[in-house]
Formats: sequence, C-alpha cells, structure tokens
Amino acid sequence: MCEIVNVNFLNAQAGDSIVIEFISDTSEYVVIDSNLTKIDSDKINPAYKFLKNKNVDTISTLIISHLHQDHYNGVEYLLENFEIKKIVIPPFLSAKSKQYNKILDRYKKKIREFVERCSDDDVFQYGKSLAYLLHYVSNNDDKVEEASGKESILRFPGVEGVNATVYLPLRRIKGVLHNLIDNNDYDLNNFPAMNDSSIAFCLNCCGHKILLTGDSTFTQWREHKRQMSWDNITNLNINSLKAPHHGSKYDNNEELYEYCFDFNENREAKHLFISADGVRHPDKEVFDLINKFELIPHCTNFSKYCLPPSVVQFKPMTDIPKKMRTFLLNYAEKLAIPCQGDILLSISESEIKITNSSGMPCIYRTDW
Ligand SMILES: [Zn+2]
Ligand SMILES: [Zn+2]
Repeated sequence: MCEIVNVNFLNAQAGDSIVIEFISDTSEYVVIDSNLTKIDSDKINPAYKFLKNKNVDTISTLIISHLHQDHYNGVEYLLENFEIKKIVIPPFLSAKSKQYNKILDRYKKKIREFVERCSDDDVFQYGKSLAYLLHYVSNNDDKVEEASGKESILRFPGVEGVNATVYLPLRRIKGVLHNLIDNNDYDLNNFPAMNDSSIAFCLNCCGHKILLTGDSTFTQWREHKRQMSWDNITNLNINSLKAPHHGSKYDNNEELYEYCFDFNENREAKHLFISADGVRHPDKEVFDLINKFELIPHCTNFSKYCLPPSVVQFKPMTDIPKKMRTFLLNYAEKLAIPCQGDILLSISESEIKITNSSGMPCIYRTDW
C-alpha cells in the first residue's frame, strides 16, 4: 500500500516532464512525458537524470501524453536505459489498430522528409526520438496500453492503493486523427489537432485529487463535461490542476476551471501547476484566472507575462537604440528562465507539502 506520493513537475524548459514516485516499502516510478532540455550545448533529459540520481532501473509506467516534440523529445533516453513495464499512449497510435501500419508508413515518410530537409541538430533530434518511440511501440505490443476516457481506470504495475482515472482523450478522436494522418494533412512539428489526443488523467492519493492534462484542449474538455453530465457529474472536484497546454489562454478558461474545481463547497487550498514554455505561455489571461479563483500558482519557468508591465519595459533600455532593444527583448523572450524550477508536490495521509528547487514562490502569489 502506497504511503507517500511525490509528484515531481520537472523543469523541462519549453516542454513537459513529470515523474511520480509512489513510496511504500519500495518505490515505483511513473513518467509522464520526457522533454529534452539544452543547457549551453549539453542535452539533458530531466526525467532520465532524476531517475538515475535515485539509482532507478525500472519504470512502472511511461505515459506519452501526445505526439508533440515538446513532450516526447528525448524519450530514447528512457526507452534505452530503463526496463519499462508498461507504456501508455493516445489511442490512435497502438500497433493493435488495423490502421497502424498505414500510420507508421506515413510517419516514416515524414521523419525522412523531416531529417533530410534540414541540417538543424534540434530537428534531427525530434526525428530521432519519434523514430525510437515508434520502433518501441511496434516491438512491444504486450506492454502498450491505449488510454481513453471519458472515465476509465489506469493501473500502474506495482502500485497499490492509488486510483487513476483517464478522462481524455475521448474515443472518437481516434477516427479523426486516423483520417488526418491518412489524408497526409499534417506536419510533424505543426499539427495542432494532435493536442486533442492528449491524455489527461486524475490521480487520487489520500483524497487529494490531481488532474494531469498534457496539452488537452478546451474543445475536448467541453465535450467531456457534456458526457459526464449524462451521469449527473457536473464537477470533477479536484485539488490540484496541471494547467493544460503550458497555460495557453485558449485551453484555460473560467468554464474549465469551474468544471475542475468546486469553488462553492470545497474551501481547501487549490493549486495550479504550470509548465511555462519560457516564451508565450502562460498567457496573461491565466493570471487573471489565478487571481479570480484565488488559486495558488506554481510555475517551472517564467513567461514574459509573469512580470508586471512596468518591470518588463525596463526603464534604462530607453537609452538603447530601438532596433537593439527589440533584438534584446526577443532574445530574452526565447530563453526559458526557471521560475521555481523543479516543483515537488508531496502527498501523504497526514499532509500536503509543496516545495521547489529555486526556493522562491511564484511571483504571482499574493500571500508571500
Ligand atoms: Zn506542449
Ligand atoms: Zn502539444
């Protein structure tokens, strides 16, 4: 029976990587996404580093929320170096599907184009990671599980006493994505419909409910809400939310937050975790939601909206020529700067504790 659950939101720069540690007599690990980061020219996979530091050699479950590179880039570090008991993927990708070989051929063609088209090391890296992932899925059919909602149980090998329920993606997205890929109407890097296939699931540990959402979209959540209302469920009553899609204003709004949190009956503190991408996300509208609903924000990175406008417009910069100023601001915006860095949400029967590697609260917290 699991006694402590540690949810580690790792600072994966412009992407996601979450490692959950289930501690009882022994520990089991679940990894959700595994973005590769770059510090100077060194490539680092934060999930790999985290697990190696703990001398882990087995991953209970690896979940790839969806096929965007900021979520799977660098996944080969995990596939090559750990024994993985189970891999969970969105429902359109499993080798169990009749369409799989067709999809695989399309992807192979795309990866080839992708790699040949450019000499960019980063792009080559994405292609490589995707090729590893597809190879692994094709050859480990017995370990692959397709996740889909609107409510289904997700089990992690070796973990007991914790419930996980998959809410998204909804089943019908499978056909939609098959069609899009079939018609070749997609690009590996720019295929926004892929976010509709994001896996979102809720963990219930000692009564604390955490909703992990990948890049799930509001369209899908609205449909989820509609389908849940058939069973008279109108509120998910969670305690912690990983803001969908790095805090994009299109996928985070009042309606979603009112569906996820119970603001009327449940007076407990409510937490919002954001894997800011260091550039646009979180959008400034998300800070309005944080203030309106009095959520406690926790953010792995800064976005340019984290700071009040008076700070962003750096006063001394008026002395710098205008062109230079634009260059500097653009440059600064492209850097992922850790806000709180790695964030740890630790849950046990007796307490909920949230700490982070920078030791700083989110600048938007009003109570510090
Ligand atoms: Zn993403
Ligand atoms: Zn995405």
